[in-house]
Amino acid sequence: MSELILSSKQAGAGVITVNNPPVNALSPGVPEGIQAALEAHIADPEVKAILLIGGGRTFIAGADIKEFGKVVAGQSKGHNLLPLMLAMEDSPKPVVVAIHGTALGGGLEVAMGGHYRVAAAGAQVGQPEVKIGLIPGAGGTQRLPRLAGVELAARMCAFGEPISAAKAHEAGIVDALIEGDLLSGAIDFALARTERPKPRERVFRGFDPAIFDTLRAEARKSHRNQTAPLAAIDAVEAATQLPFAEGCARERELFNGCLYGPQSKALIHAFFGEREVAKVPGIGKDTPVRPIQRAAVIGAGTMGGGITMNFVNAGIPVRLRETTQEALDRGMATIRRNYANSVAKGRFPQAVMDERLARITPQLDYEGFEAADIITEAVYEGMALKKEIFAEIDKIAKPGAILATNTSTLSIDEIASATKRPADVIGTHYFSPANVMRLLEIVRGAATGADVIATCMNLAKSLKKVGVLVGNCRGFVGNRMIHCYLREAQFLVEEGAAPEQVDAALYEWGMAMGPLAMGDLAGLDVGWRIRKEFKHLEKPGERVPLISDELCERGRFGQKTSAGYYKYDENRKPTPDPEVVAIARDLARRQGIEQREISKEEILDRTLLALANEGASILDEGIALRAVDIDVIYLTGYGFPAYRGGPMFYAESLGLAHVLQRVEAFGWEAAPLLVKLALEGGSFYRAAAG
Ligand code: NAD
Repeated sequence: MSELILSSKQAGAGVITVNNPPVNALSPGVPEGIQAALEAHIADPEVKAILLIGGGRTFIAGADIKEFGKVVAGQSKGHNLLPLMLAMEDSPKPVVVAIHGTALGGGLEVAMGGHYRVAAAGAQVGQPEVKIGLIPGAGGTQRLPRLAGVELAARMCAFGEPISAAKAHEAGIVDALIEGDLLSGAIDFALARTERPKPRERVFRGFDPAIFDTLRAEARKSHRNQTAPLAAIDAVEAATQLPFAEGCARERELFNGCLYGPQSKALIHAFFGEREVAKVPGIGKDTPVRPIQRAAVIGAGTMGGGITMNFVNAGIPVRLRETTQEALDRGMATIRRNYANSVAKGRFPQAVMDERLARITPQLDYEGFEAADIITEAVYEGMALKKEIFAEIDKIAKPGAILATNTSTLSIDEIASATKRPADVIGTHYFSPANVMRLLEIVRGAATGADVIATCMNLAKSLKKVGVLVGNCRGFVGNRMIHCYLREAQFLVEEGAAPEQVDAALYEWGMAMGPLAMGDLAGLDVGWRIRKEFKHLEKPGERVPLISDELCERGRFGQKTSAGYYKYDENRKPTPDPEVVAIARDLARRQGIEQREISKEEILDRTLLALANEGASILDEGIALRAVDIDVIYLTGYGFPAYRGGPMFYAESLGLAHVLQRVEAFGWEAAPLLVKLALEGGSFYRAAAG
């Protein structure tokens, strides 16, 4: 028998323990091992009842996700849980499954093969397969509705959220909650039920068949364009219409449709990507990490306020400095309002809000900054101001303090040059709203110390962010690429596409928001000011987008002035504005730009491939460590749909030769790496950085 499974006898119960740390995933050998142990206990006359339990911190937390890719690539047959499930169900001795930690995905499916389930109070159960673009494939969509009722089961399978042991008990998924020691409680439970188990009832409690369409409508909204949630609903519906075996066959068909479809591949890429970005060559477990117990933040504006919230939410007290009492009060009022909203929504109690606010010391001076382990600057974007501030904090900060800037475009090296300790200077680039967005670009300067990088990567985790290490260049990774994307969006408007046509194409494709609506939200004046500052960097003869600036010249800054690419009412609801089309037409005439009908395909290719082409240069220059880092930046910071895998993954899914052809057809300068890979038939994911 495999060592993945331990088997023992305790007081007449056969105990099978899954021993596949850290999460007892259903790796090859696990289901087979459980089945072998089960058969041995069935054959053993001393065993009256059989118990299946997880060793370590959890029951079976799910499938081994790496296996799915291998199945699609034809390198593995994947796990087939069916023989195990049948062996459990047909066992003449009762099989009791004891759940602690989580029973997720295949874990819950295996648990449902038992005759009874008991759970520790803190346990959770769920069918989260949709999160990686799949549905349960081992009878989960057929067994769960029979246990939990149709609506709850369909919800669990379609939306993937786990439920607590208490809720599972109430719903009938779990037969008893065990207080105290789970193993001994489960053995007592099992030994009280040693009679031959009855075949499972295959009937449903009453339900309204209209529920499926209601859930489909919900899924189309909450999981726009995603196929797995709808497939999960179809499978549960099939459970209510077909005999069990046929329902299982239908589930398999739907499961395979998802497994061999593009979305699961992309979502699995995104899943592993988030883990991959934490790995930085040259930084390992032995790289020293500086303790972060106290923080200071400079600037209580849009970003400084959100950054402060991140620290205090993680239990780190913050000294928050502003220049005027008015700006400080405004910043604190925003923080208070944000917390009050969360309390009103029931996310946490008032006491938590009070505790968090108490960790903030608002102030107009640098008092206490000498005790800070990290000082984060979030003042206006301007090199002179940033250098002045870094020169000031260089004098105050204790040795070993990390000096971080939230700049979104400026050179970390130049900012660091204002200090005598460039090794301690780093960019921590948060995304707006900083207390919500998961991305943290960690920008390494030429002199930044390895321990400073390691500390910030760790800090990202403590702040519940996804930290991605990037190199120092204008705009770093995310904004350097978005610049190309927004430029094309503007060109399209100048060439005759209406703003709502550009936005609709990208929104329907899956972006959280269209690029022009995004510009209106962020404020078109931000870019307008930056472009003025960088005008000297424009290459002569290179086309620059003009329409946003044209709108700004007319006081149309976006939502904040109730007009930008759209008109906004007092609730900030946008409506298309024919005036913008007229402004674009006039601009085109003056600039000699020919206006024409523009197809949806062109809108998508010009914006999305602009991302990938610039991404290829970023990869080539070593500004991003790996293509997957670029993808993760876009998935966590820019509303790129996870089921498309990220801009580099998407380009690769189109075929790099095709992408190159499109890039050349648009008259762009193709990134050398794109050219090379397209000609070689290579892949971004095999290209080494730098
Ligand atoms: P903001 O205008 O909302 O806030 C800046 C604040 O800094 C103001 O309240 C101002 O009073 C204060 N300030 C100026 N000089 C100061 C000083 N010497 N000491 C203390 N406070 C001072 O700006 P923001 O949007 O929060 O941007 C801050 C930084 O973050 C910029 O570098 C910006 O590029 C970057 N950033 C902004 C965003 C965004 O979406 N807004 C996203 C990422 C990064």
